Amino acid sequence: MSLRPSKGADGRPLLPPVHSAAGCLDHPDYRRDEESDEQDRQDEQVDRGARPRLELAGVWESEDGPTRRTVCCRECFWDGPLTWLDDTRLAVWGYGTDDEHWIAAVRVFDVTTGAELDWFPGPRGALVFDRELASLDGLTLWDVKRGARLARDSAQLARYHPGAKIYAGLPASGELATCRVRGIDAAASWSTPTIRTLARRIAHDRAFAELPVLGDALLLAGCPDADMIAHCHAPGEHGARCWVLDRLVEP
Ligand SMILES: [Zn+2]
Repeated sequence: MSLRPSKGADGRPLLPPVHSAAGCLDHPDYRRDEESDEQDRQDEQVDRGARPRLELAGVWESEDGPTRRTVCCRECFWDGPLTWLDDTRLAVWGYGTDDEHWIAAVRVFDVTTGAELDWFPGPRGALVFDRELASLDGLTLWDVKRGARLARDSAQLARYHPGAKIYAGLPASGELATCRVRGIDAAASWSTPTIRTLARRIAHDRAFAELPVLGDALLLAGCPDADMIAHCHAPGEHGARCWVLDRLVEP
């Protein structure tokens, strides 16, 4: 009994493959490879046409060229914590001039001019910025504008997921620890009693279909956070929790 079909998928009889020094040229797999190579070439051409191009300004500029800025010069202490606050401001950890004795602090620089804009004491550990500055020695949140500590959690949280807006860590116990910012906007000037009540109700009932109404209310109340408003208006699932509601509802 033969295990091979006598006809191919197109109904034509299967022919013995033709062998050559380069291999089996007529083997169906080989033909598929040729076809997929051609498809790859076509896809590549389509991609090349559609793909956004990155153009680096001053790509041929030397390391000491005119756009170079010295932001925060240190002799031996390097690779310390730093994070972007926006497109032009950089937060760099550590204050002082002695490479062995840094004051726990954050310095804020404008990278377009090299100027130091501000500094404030307190933060320790890796830095993350998402609306607030977080220092990951435990988890502490800071208001960069005022240099004020907003909240603190003792859990060891070494990573931040910007999409889920969750801090996470794996301490020695082996049990995953997670933390999310809650209630931080409950006292904001634009966080009216109506907004807080609506947010609390949506969270309690998990009535995420009403989030666009909350988005409209935030807009009318003058909420400056475009991402929060856009999140309320965006379609899609919100899982068991929603980061916008978490920020508005006090724990
Ligand atoms: Zn959500």
